[in-house]
Amino acid sequence: MAPADPGAASEGEAVLRTYGPYGGRFVAETLVPALDELERAVATVLPSEAYRRELDRLLRDYVGRPTPLTDAARLARAIDPEGSQIERLLLKREDLAHTGAHKINNALGQVLLARAMGKARIIAETGAGQHGVATATAAALLGLPCDVYQGAIDVERQAPNVARMRLLGARVIPVESGSRTLKDAMNEALRDWVTNVATTYYCVGSAAGPRPYPALVAELQRVIGDEARAQCVAGPGLPDAVVACVGGGSNAIGIFRAFLERDPGVALFGVEAAGLGLDTDRHAATLTLGRRGVLHGALSYVLCDDAGQIQEAHSVSAGLDYPGVGPEHAHLKDTGRAAYLTATDAEALAAVRLVARTEGLLIALETAHAFAAIPAIAAREAGRLGRPARLLVCLSGRGDKDLATLMAHLDAEGAS
Ligand SMILES: *Cc1c(COP(=O)(O)O)cnc(C)c1O
Repeated sequence: MAPADPGAASEGEAVLRTYGPYGGRFVAETLVPALDELERAVATVLPSEAYRRELDRLLRDYVGRPTPLTDAARLARAIDPEGSQIERLLLKREDLAHTGAHKINNALGQVLLARAMGKARIIAETGAGQHGVATATAAALLGLPCDVYQGAIDVERQAPNVARMRLLGARVIPVESGSRTLKDAMNEALRDWVTNVATTYYCVGSAAGPRPYPALVAELQRVIGDEARAQCVAGPGLPDAVVACVGGGSNAIGIFRAFLERDPGVALFGVEAAGLGLDTDRHAATLTLGRRGVLHGALSYVLCDDAGQIQEAHSVSAGLDYPGVGPEHAHLKDTGRAAYLTATDAEALAAVRLVARTEGLLIALETAHAFAAIPAIAAREAGRLGRPARLLVCLSGRGDKDLATLMAHLDAEGAS
C-alpha cells in the first residue's frame, strides 16, 4: 500500500469526533452498554499495531489497494470543450476495489474489529445490497456467520446482489415493514442487535447511526482520501475541489477527511439525489431540503413532514434512497466547510452514459450523481479561482449491479 502521508495518520482518541450539535446516541437503554463496548474498542483496538498491520495487509493483498487515480481527460473535454473551466479531472477508482465499491473498506475493518472483540456473529443492513455483499465477503473471509437485513423492495430490485450474498454464505432476511427499503432494514438490524448483543456485532454500512459508528466508518473510509491526497501530491498536485455523492455519506467523508482540516483552500462538494425533482416529494435530498431530526440513533438532517414523521425517500439509485444522512455532513453543511448540491434521476442516468462513452467506465448510479454535478461545480470553481480548476471526484463504485435499471431506461428512451 502506498504509505499515506504520515501527517495524516490518525491516533486513537482523534477517531472519536463530535459534530457540533449533531450525532449522539438516541437509542434504547439496552443498546448503551453495547455502544460503550464498541466505543472502547474503537479507541483501543483500532489504533493498535496488530489491528493496523492486519487491516493494511488485507486492504493491499485482498481488496487491491491502493486504488488508482485516473486522469479523465476525455470526459473533462466533453463537459468543458474550451478548457476554460476544468484543468484536470481526476477519478479516485473505488470501483476497482474488490466487490466493486468503497464499502469493502468499511466492512472489512468492522468485521476485523468484531473478531478482535470476540464476537461470534455479524449482522448488517443493506439497501442496494452493496454493503450486504461487502459484509458477507468480509465475514466469509474471516470465517464468521452473517445475517443481512434488506428491505423487500430492494431484495427484488437488487436480485444479483441477493444471489451474491447467499453464495457468500450469508442469510438474507427480507424486511416487509414500512417502505420496505433501507431505513426499515436498519430498524430490523437494530432490533436484532438489542436481542443478541452479547454475541453479535452490528456492521453499519454508512457514516450514520449512533456514536461511535459515524466516527468508526469515517476512520475506515479515510483510506480513500489519504491515498488520493498522497497520489495528487506525488503527481498532478492538490485538487481545488473534491466531489463525492452522498447517501449516508461514507464515501464522501472518506475522501473529504484528508483535506478537511489540512487544506482549507480545497473546496468540498457532496451531491445528493434529487430523484424526480426537488419540487416533488420523490427525492432523497436530505441536507438540501430536510431539517434537524433524529433517525437511527443520531441527530442529523432528516426528511420529515410537519408532524415530524419520517418521509419516504426516492432515488433511481438504491444506495442513495435514504431519508437520513451522517451527522458529520450536517455539521459540515452548517459550518460551510462543505457544500451540498443535488442531481436528479435523469441527470444521473445521462451522466452514466456520458462517462461510459467518453472514458469506457460503467459507473454506479449512486456515483453518477457526483458526475452529474461536475459542470456546475467546474463553473463555480473556475469563477472562484479565476482559472480552470483541478477536480478530484470519488468514483465510488461500478455500475454492473444497475444493469437492469439502466436497460429499462435505455429501452424507454429508445437510445442506441
Ligand atoms: C452505497 C453506495 C453509495 C452511498 O453510500 P455512502 O455511504 O453515501 O457512500 C455510493 N456509491 C456506491 C457505489 C455505493 O454502493
